Amino acid sequence: QLYNTLQELRGNIQVFCRIRPMFNEEAKCTIDYIGNDGSLMVIDPLKPQNTRKIFQFNRVFGPTATQDEVYKDTQALIRSVMDGYNVCIFAYGQTGSGKTHTMCGPSNGSSKDMGINYMALNDLFQISSIREDVKYEIRVQMVEIYNEQVRDLLAEDASNTKLEIRNCSSNVWLSLPDANVHLAQSTADVLNLMKLGEKNRAFSSTAMNHRSSRSHSVLTVHVHGKDISGSAIHSCLHLVDLAGSERVDKSEATGDRLKEAQHINKSLSCLGDVITALSQKNSHIPYRNSKLTQLLQNSLGGNAKMLMFAHVSPEADSYGETISTLKFAQRAS
Ligand code: ADP
Ligand code: MG
Repeated sequence: QLYNTLQELRGNIQVFCRIRPMFNEEAKCTIDYIGNDGSLMVIDPLKPQNTRKIFQFNRVFGPTATQDEVYKDTQALIRSVMDGYNVCIFAYGQTGSGKTHTMCGPSNGSSKDMGINYMALNDLFQISSIREDVKYEIRVQMVEIYNEQVRDLLAEDASNTKLEIRNCSSNVWLSLPDANVHLAQSTADVLNLMKLGEKNRAFSSTAMNHRSSRSHSVLTVHVHGKDISGSAIHSCLHLVDLAGSERVDKSEATGDRLKEAQHINKSLSCLGDVITALSQKNSHIPYRNSKLTQLLQNSLGGNAKMLMFAHVSPEADSYGETISTLKFAQRAS
């Protein structure tokens, strides 16, 4: 069976760490040791005597890991969506650490080294074409959360769509009743939709890079399956490229920048609180405290499965952000 590997997954929350290559080989590196058991040792190269810290994750991908290697370890989780599981995959880390590389692919837009978004859709369509016992429909939706407002990236005029999140405890499908949802027949359809989404994201912003690192983008794949006996499944895969987690210098941030920074801090810390509450199996899960967790409420917790990629920039000057990324991620594992 395709999904046997799912049994290997430990619990419903997993954390993978991914370290991108150094841009400048001469820079000092914070990565001391990567174990193949998911352990990671980091040091501050400027104070090597007293700063060695050890972290433990489900898996650590070093700078030479390929997109294929990363996808191979993500595949079972993604395929489980076709069996009715809700799945959320998050890319977390400071700006420049490789979040978009993991989710979408290289920044030069090359069609080699495609990211998880593309590989996942490709995989789901493939399963859909192989399984004769189940008839699947795959729909795609793409939104951005910026300053705690949800915007539809697949709308005709995306600049003025503010979406309301409906509170709907049982049906994921209905949590964004006004968002455009496109039926997709092939990976090519999805690529076109992703291009439209990216265009809409850029359109409303003069500094696209700034905007894309200050907002969360959420690509949602809705899967409907019906088998011969008439029983149906409905599940969702959310692929989330989070806003950069770096702390903005309070003395420098004013006006719009300060507001953005506060919204990002709040929503990332809410996400952390939800994950902690879920991993501790608390009875109260604080979904309501941010748009992101509200939107994903039905796909976090219960039978849903979650994977967090903690991205690391290995250069010495990122040491502080690296420690805070690894600590955030460790809360979940
Ligand atoms: P983020 O989305 O976290 O801001 P990016 O994904 O844009 O970061 O990565 C920053 C730069 O580093 C991009 O040019 C990207 O292509 C490159 N990069 C990131 N991760 C890798 C990797 N694993 N291998 C090669 N290049 C990478
Ligand atoms: Mg990015």
